[in-house]
Amino acid sequence: MIKKILKTIKTVFYPEGYSCIFCGKEIVSDEDRYLSTCEECSCSLVYNGEEKVCNVCAGNIENQTDALCQDCLTNPPPYNKLYSVFVYKDTVRKTVLLYKEHGHRYLAKYVARYIADYLSTQHVRADIICPIPASREAMTSRGFSHIVEICEELSAALQIPMHKLLLRTPFVNRQKGKTRREREKNIIGSFAFDMTLDEELYKDKTVLIIDDVVTSGATIAEAARVIAENGVSEVLAASFARTRM
Ligand SMILES: [Zn+2]
Ligand SMILES: [Zn+2]
Repeated sequence: MIKKILKTIKTVFYPEGYSCIFCGKEIVSDEDRYLSTCEECSCSLVYNGEEKVCNVCAGNIENQTDALCQDCLTNPPPYNKLYSVFVYKDTVRKTVLLYKEHGHRYLAKYVARYIADYLSTQHVRADIICPIPASREAMTSRGFSHIVEICEELSAALQIPMHKLLLRTPFVNRQKGKTRREREKNIIGSFAFDMTLDEELYKDKTVLIIDDVVTSGATIAEAARVIAENGVSEVLAASFARTRM
């Protein structure tokens, strides 16, 4: 009985590691606590690389024998490669929304662990982690930048420093009321490189840009374009999830 009460208290106050981040069910096995994911969800999660995806943008590929999608073939993006862990749907989508829209901020740690584990399996090396900066509208309505929080956790997990190389430009492109896809199209000109930073921080370094969900890839491409113009050696990108077009 006491054990049960203690467990209930832990679940209420420290849901992390005790209830599954995808379905909310109690986690019984100690091994499952690291990613705070129950066995059932571990088995049912759809990883982005399960089907063949584009070698560069991790998006759908029309012709399964090609290595790259048509977009990357005709218009190569300004980053070398994007790594996306999950397909953005079902429980993955729900968990992202719980974090972003409902403020379940403890999720940052687990989102970061999933990205960190995935990058390790792909042998990705980087010198700097750089978050996609939140729009002013998002900062005003949420009061926090979920990407920065994920990057802080990722930085700790991978032992790679985080530097906010990008700033959000103050004006352009009102994003309110637009769909995510429309917002992505509207992103050009929204980022500026932070020229107040010491050049030593980023010069000739490999930069890994982080976003939560990649839709068309336009946001990552625009961020990468701005970063690539500033003397870094390579730009990579990673996201927790990627939509299927
Ligand atoms: Zn679960
Ligand atoms: Zn592609």
